[in-house]
Amino acid sequence: MSTHYFAIFGNPVSHSKSPLMHNLAFKGLGYSGCYGRYCLEHGEKLRETFFTLGLKGINITVPHKEHAYNACDVLDDFAQKVGAVNTIVEKEGKLYGYNTDAPGFLKAISEFESVKTVLFLGAGGTAQSTAVILKEAGYDVTILNRSAPRLEKFAIEGFETATFETFIPKAYDLVVNMTSAGLEDESLPAPKAILDKIIPDTKACVDVIYGKETPFLKLAGSYGKPTKDGSDMLLYQGIIAFMHFTEHRFSFDTVKLHMQKAFE
Ligand code: NDP
Repeated sequence: MSTHYFAIFGNPVSHSKSPLMHNLAFKGLGYSGCYGRYCLEHGEKLRETFFTLGLKGINITVPHKEHAYNACDVLDDFAQKVGAVNTIVEKEGKLYGYNTDAPGFLKAISEFESVKTVLFLGAGGTAQSTAVILKEAGYDVTILNRSAPRLEKFAIEGFETATFETFIPKAYDLVVNMTSAGLEDESLPAPKAILDKIIPDTKACVDVIYGKETPFLKLAGSYGKPTKDGSDMLLYQGIIAFMHFTEHRFSFDTVKLHMQKAFE
């Protein structure tokens, strides 16, 4: 079999764990694939760059997930619905687009039992796709954001929404940091006074940021709550992307065996 080439497109991409994750799985599974990284400055050049580089598939990270959506010839139902693509596979000259972030997140939180109500802190693109998949899976999701404009879309889709000013605290089974607060600074995703009201009543706290204990997770830990960072979400979105890349030749658990070594 000839070697298939894959890459992560984004800006920046130097920090991405995806090359390590996918290359470990290619090697472990004896699949002739090679995965690199490409810093794409202009999202509108995504399609042209894909074909110029002769790739079989890509993952797409910040800030190009909407450009990736527009670059595809065929979209799966879920990617179509949420308007964001993080995985593209080339088949017979056509680009097929998928969103694996949201199913990755859904799987990552499925380990928390008897969770029904979820509070999202943040209303960006990641919050949007994950809120939709959680709703479809039967969760009751509320969106809390520091400013109003991004909440409009959620309200139209039937989610309960609030800003810090309008929020009335109540008990949620799970509280999730869906912002980048804490990624490169020491900020909390919401005022501490609000978090001090909701964290004591929650079963667990989750952050989509990975590789560090954010101020949000530290605060949750100080209340003795179980916490989880974004590593499993990253791993699971990668496994699902890998399954698309290799046309479902390998099962989720088989890919996991190899890909999870990137986190050891
Ligand atoms: P952004 O990181 O751009 O965040 C957008 C949202 O966060 C907006 O609602 C914004 O509020 C809010 N926000 C940003 N900074 C702050 C702050 N300091 N305090 C309060 N609110 C803030 O959106 P993305 O959806 O692109 O990414 C969200 C996070 O998800 C990132 O940290 C990213 O790294 C992570 N991620 C993790 C993945 C994984 O596999 N683990 C996969 C994909 C993403 P406003 O509307 O008021 O501006």
